[in-house]
Amino acid sequence: MRLKTLCMVLSLLVAGPAALASDQPKEGATRIPGFNFSTSDHERKLEEQLVDLLDTASTARHFRLLTEEPHPAGSDENLELAHYVRDQFVAYGLEEVKLHRYDVLLPWPRKIAVTMVEPVEYKASLAEDGYPVDKDSYAVGADLTYLGMSASGDITADVIYAHSGNPEDYDWLEARGIDPRGKIAIVRYSNPYSYRGFKAWEAERRGVAAMIIYSDPMDDGYRKGDVFPEGPWGPESHIQRGAITYDFIVPGDPLTPGWPSVEGAKRVTREDARSVPRIPAVPMSWRDAKPILEKLGGPVAPSAWQGGLPLTYKVGPGPAKLHVEIDMDDEVRPIWVVEGRIHGSEKPDELVILGNHRDAWVYGAVDPSSGTASLLEAARVLGALARSGERPKRTLVFANWDAEEWHLTGSTEWGEQFAAELGKGAVAYLNVDSSTAGPDFSIGAVASLNPTILEVARDVIDPNSRRSLLDAWSKTVSSAEGDASAPLIENELGSGSDYTVFLNFLGVPIASMGFDGPYGVYHSQYDDLYWMEHFGDPGYRYMTAMVEVWGRLGLRLANADVIPYDFRPYASTVRSFVDSLREVSGLEEKLDLTAVSAVVDEWRREAEKLHQKTEEALTLEGETQAGTYADLNAALLKVEREFLLEYGIPDRPWFKHALYAPRYTYAAMSLPGVLEAAEAGNWDLARKQLGLLVERLAAATRATERAAALVPVR
Ligand SMILES: [Zn+2]
Repeated sequence: MRLKTLCMVLSLLVAGPAALASDQPKEGATRIPGFNFSTSDHERKLEEQLVDLLDTASTARHFRLLTEEPHPAGSDENLELAHYVRDQFVAYGLEEVKLHRYDVLLPWPRKIAVTMVEPVEYKASLAEDGYPVDKDSYAVGADLTYLGMSASGDITADVIYAHSGNPEDYDWLEARGIDPRGKIAIVRYSNPYSYRGFKAWEAERRGVAAMIIYSDPMDDGYRKGDVFPEGPWGPESHIQRGAITYDFIVPGDPLTPGWPSVEGAKRVTREDARSVPRIPAVPMSWRDAKPILEKLGGPVAPSAWQGGLPLTYKVGPGPAKLHVEIDMDDEVRPIWVVEGRIHGSEKPDELVILGNHRDAWVYGAVDPSSGTASLLEAARVLGALARSGERPKRTLVFANWDAEEWHLTGSTEWGEQFAAELGKGAVAYLNVDSSTAGPDFSIGAVASLNPTILEVARDVIDPNSRRSLLDAWSKTVSSAEGDASAPLIENELGSGSDYTVFLNFLGVPIASMGFDGPYGVYHSQYDDLYWMEHFGDPGYRYMTAMVEVWGRLGLRLANADVIPYDFRPYASTVRSFVDSLREVSGLEEKLDLTAVSAVVDEWRREAEKLHQKTEEALTLEGETQAGTYADLNAALLKVEREFLLEYGIPDRPWFKHALYAPRYTYAAMSLPGVLEAAEAGNWDLARKQLGLLVERLAAATRATERAAALVPVR
């Protein structure tokens, strides 16, 4: 589901805290974080073997097979691919390879039609063109294009143009006496970006009767550059499919909120499900939207609302009047999560999880097949290392999710089903949704992982520049941000991919990464093999480089003597979250931030002590005896879990983490309980939430202190 280019936009909007300069590895360092001198040497040799095993031809073979047919969640084709992934896992020597079935709400369309009935008659094609150079672009012409979880409806009404469908857009319209109630709103996907489900939520709240979301050429089409098949941007008929589920309230199957959709599970009714939208909505290309926009009268839209089409955008209402017909089948369908493991030799109950989803809207070349190809190649090389006798100390879990595109479904159901095991033993969840749309690396992570991530990036060679990935990445970020000291790692975490259940429900540290580039065909049929081989990753070098990043990161977390959580950058990041609370207007008169600031600073001091003691132990030690650090590692695992709130954040009990939650737009909302209440001016609630936040931070501080006391001293 992840649209990578948006990360940049979001990080520009919110100047976020991130990796500090002091986290940067020092030149000539000879120890990897969490390792001693001798285990570092061994780890480096092991990772050299991993690099030697990497094979772009093998990645390409997987990728071509994965992108042969459209494979949306619930389809036979996606089940066939689940079998393929399972068989590869077995062939690569993974253990306990399983298919997990979940039955979840996954309505497919029976009819989708949009007709302009006034002032002229016109039927929208709702279809994407074929191009002779790309055989795949002809294969899906008859398929209905739709938004997952749209309501059914048969509506005839006047049209309004509501820009990006965000609250301020409707405010603008309402201030001018343009009432959205009962109208059909046509909105753009981006500018500024918000999750399409948030647009549906807002439209529903405003009383809009039906919504059309279209791709304006300003955002991902010819105004950006050459369009498919000449270039990577979206052509005139491309349609961005996608779900509009309100999974910012609760992700996973809407009928089993908070528990797994396994056989015999209790289910709520569709009417009672909080994440089910009640508004009919449909996606459209700009070619289909243009005749409608041309027939809007009323006031001229503000200049910021003017898009890339050669017309003056007006807001209506009318005279364009549309007839929208949407008929969804409301079926529950089976989805399939594939799991395989490489059992750890010393700490089999401590889990490092590598996950990616398999379901696509159409072929899903970038999203998610590039990630699935990287996952399969990672399973191949890590499986080969294990078979050669180099078994990781901790268990590596490989997970291939399903129905991510709908409601982050497979990962959420699996996380809910195995919550006890994961709560006890999960060291980290490493997510790759789209692995490759170009050469620009980006990663979001819990800040305790920052130093390890930066060290890995320093050791990986960037395929284009042949310099370190850290170097290439720094250049990309500083030129995008116009600032050489811009943070590399995004430590503010929202939602929109499979890491959500791990971070927000289970309190497991996460990282989510990919390689980005110019990409205007997201969730359209043109996100296919041709696109990837001509624009995204000719030669499969970046898809394979992702295997290296993923593999090294997974191995370091699995093999470290001491799990390399560094709570110093984490505490600094949280301190900056606290400081940015002051930006909420009126907050400083209403809330006393003394206690929360003090507890974060205390956590920072305890983190420093833990770090110093661990460094001393690892610097002194020659050989690590198995079990030396067992108690310390068990204690370290508990620190992140301390951030879970018993009852979750207000009105969204599924979201339990006290430091992170998504906004309804999917953007990051740090310290969500306090921030959301403060932004709403509900100061009593904000004070209560602040009290709970202080409790959780104090608990994490004590957990850090307990860990420090368990560092063996000679
Ligand atoms: Zn995806």
